[in-house]
Amino acid sequence: MGGGAPVSVQSMCTADTRDAAAAVRQVNALAAAGCDIVRLAVPDMDAAKAFRTIKEQTRVPLVADIHFDYRLALECIKSGADKIRLNPGNIGGKENVRAVADAAGEKGVPIRIGVNGGSLEKDLLEKYGHPTAEALCESALRHAALLEDCGFRDIGISIKSSSVPMMVEAYRKIAALTDYPLHLGVTEAGTEYTGIIKSSIGIGSLLLDGIGDTIRVSLTADPVREVKAGIELLKALDLRRGARLTSCPTCGRCQVENMIDIANRVSARLEGVDKDIHVAVMGCVVNGPGEAREADIGFACGRGSALLFKKGEILRKVHIDEAVDELFREIESM
Ligand code: SF4
Repeated sequence: MGGGAPVSVQSMCTADTRDAAAAVRQVNALAAAGCDIVRLAVPDMDAAKAFRTIKEQTRVPLVADIHFDYRLALECIKSGADKIRLNPGNIGGKENVRAVADAAGEKGVPIRIGVNGGSLEKDLLEKYGHPTAEALCESALRHAALLEDCGFRDIGISIKSSSVPMMVEAYRKIAALTDYPLHLGVTEAGTEYTGIIKSSIGIGSLLLDGIGDTIRVSLTADPVREVKAGIELLKALDLRRGARLTSCPTCGRCQVENMIDIANRVSARLEGVDKDIHVAVMGCVVNGPGEAREADIGFACGRGSALLFKKGEILRKVHIDEAVDELFREIESM
């Protein structure tokens, strides 16, 4: 994470970490969906001890999310955590910060400082009146300074807010102030539909500016949906390879009745395709052939038939009921 590494997608388990079997199941489901990094809440010592079992039975990098108790961080570092999320200003003093920094440094475990608009320090709230982009930045840099004082610099930072404009402003400010890798997210973004819109605007705006090293789309939904949304977000910005679909939104020119169903079927089947291809499914011969030609593969529908294109060339005319299967036959051969 950071430097020239590709932007990674992460999510967080909703399973109770103390129930190692349930957490393992969910970590594996997230990894299977393409999640690069999985975070687990570690609220107590039982959870910290379960972390070892979960780590042993999974392959994806795991982050231990810890608040207040530095001993949980030490236990998770021992248990093989790949990263710790903790705010050093909240763990009870310099000695504790040093203990965590030393243990993490010894094992090469990075620490993410996670500042959140909803949990800013009291003095900063008094200074700024309410959560602001400046307050978020000041808080993050203050936490970072505590680790730097211990000679620890393997740091990542997030400064999340549920307000998209504030989150974008805060990350732009912090990106100008530090070179630490940034974990982007709109916190408590909402249920799936709203949350994806808010996250896409917030995270997407920053990534377009070249800001951000890892992302989490935060949704009140199954975390697998967060991963799928994060991957789509990166693909839309050409930051991740994979299958991308252009599909006709349908209009009065559409020559096929079930265009929406066709596009949904193609989209669902593309989830299982691990190829860097651009696919277009179009509803007419007005815009259809142009888009289908620009894609790697696609079809444009006519009445009862579809013209199949590949790499800009017409392949053949197929019956409309066969179009999706024919498309995937061609995709398999690519
Ligand atoms: S591809 Fe054709 S049918 Fe689809 S929206 Fe465009 S013009 Fe309309």
